[in-house]
Amino acid sequence: MKPVFLKNKISSRLVNGHPWIYANEVNHLDGSIQGGEIVEVFTNDKKFLGKGFINPQSQILVRLLTRDRSEKIDADFFARKIKQARDYKSRIGYTENCRVVFGEADYLPGLIIDKFNDYLVVQTLALGIDVWKPAIVSALEDIFKPRGIYERNDVPVRELEGMEQQKGFLSAPFETNIIITENDLRFHVDLENGQKTGYFLDQQDNRRELKNIVRGAEVLEVFCYTGTFSAHAAHYGARKVLGIDISENAVMQARKNAQLNGLQEICNFEAMNAFDLLKTWAKETKQFDVVILDPPAFTKSRGNIDKAVAGYNEINLRAFKLIRKGGFLVTASCTNLVSPELFLQIIDSAARDAKRSLRLVTFQTQSSDHPIIHGIENTQYLKFLIVEVQ
Ligand code: SAH
Repeated sequence: MKPVFLKNKISSRLVNGHPWIYANEVNHLDGSIQGGEIVEVFTNDKKFLGKGFINPQSQILVRLLTRDRSEKIDADFFARKIKQARDYKSRIGYTENCRVVFGEADYLPGLIIDKFNDYLVVQTLALGIDVWKPAIVSALEDIFKPRGIYERNDVPVRELEGMEQQKGFLSAPFETNIIITENDLRFHVDLENGQKTGYFLDQQDNRRELKNIVRGAEVLEVFCYTGTFSAHAAHYGARKVLGIDISENAVMQARKNAQLNGLQEICNFEAMNAFDLLKTWAKETKQFDVVILDPPAFTKSRGNIDKAVAGYNEINLRAFKLIRKGGFLVTASCTNLVSPELFLQIIDSAARDAKRSLRLVTFQTQSSDHPIIHGIENTQYLKFLIVEVQ
């Protein structure tokens, strides 16, 4: 195993458990080092720091897998870590559908494994984890005995690691349109062509939060994807629900989901651009009791953070104008770079601009099968807020 030496004193980020080492933090690299190799990392004064995989093509040069020098990185290592992640999720109450492995937060950098009842979806987002794919798949077969495993590596971040985008079966082919059950409702999930890994598991707990605020309500869900919040709203007693998404496919799937749960009389879905719609409707006199906003991430780079803030301000301001006095805004943000504090400030400022006053009902984050580790800032990304609007 080749050694890699850090340039200076070890950074507090690394001391506090963050597994990433950036290219500008290490001394000259041995030219023979191959992308994907396991290396041993030492401080400048030659103290052992950890073992991990390296990729000279990536800005994140090394991602540590262990800080224990005696721990061998082999197929058993990955099987053990996946089993530990599965056991942890089941101990905190997530078994049927859950993110079994959430990368760094489950001590397996670059690896995502989502479980949808008997099926698994895998993403290997770093070269050093991708080379272990055969070992990972065989561990998954062993541990879960799944009915199928599908690879959703059709994501641009792979290109930062010098890898191609790809998707396909990692097991014998199977029907990739499946049905899952969540909070007593059933949903079609398209593992092959759905967004991300097919379904947004990170909102599974938040969807239940609609329970007490939608009885008898007229609800608008903007950025509805396959209509999961809409179906929950109808299930919890909403009188009428309208879901909007720009994707025709998502809207078709949302209609099928409403039907699957016998909620098609209550739920309607339309394919429309949310920004245009909110702009037009905020000027008219359209009113709802509850408006739900769950947009896609607005930026991944610090350079665009002001634009993202302006975007959140705009859609939330317009949503406030559509809400009847005493109604509720349910609003989320999955932009990593927008901290919970900043998100609250944006909502507060949008409410003032709309001349509405707010009472906080709940403010939470992603479901706990996507663990948050203090000191690994990227692990907390979702903000989910419900406010009463006066
Ligand atoms: N709440 C959903 C996830 C929403 S993801 C769930 O829990 O399953 C964000 C959605 O916003 C995606 O479905 C995407 O198609 C949609 N979207 C992106 N840009 C949009 C736009 N301009 N107008 C409407 N929808 C948009």
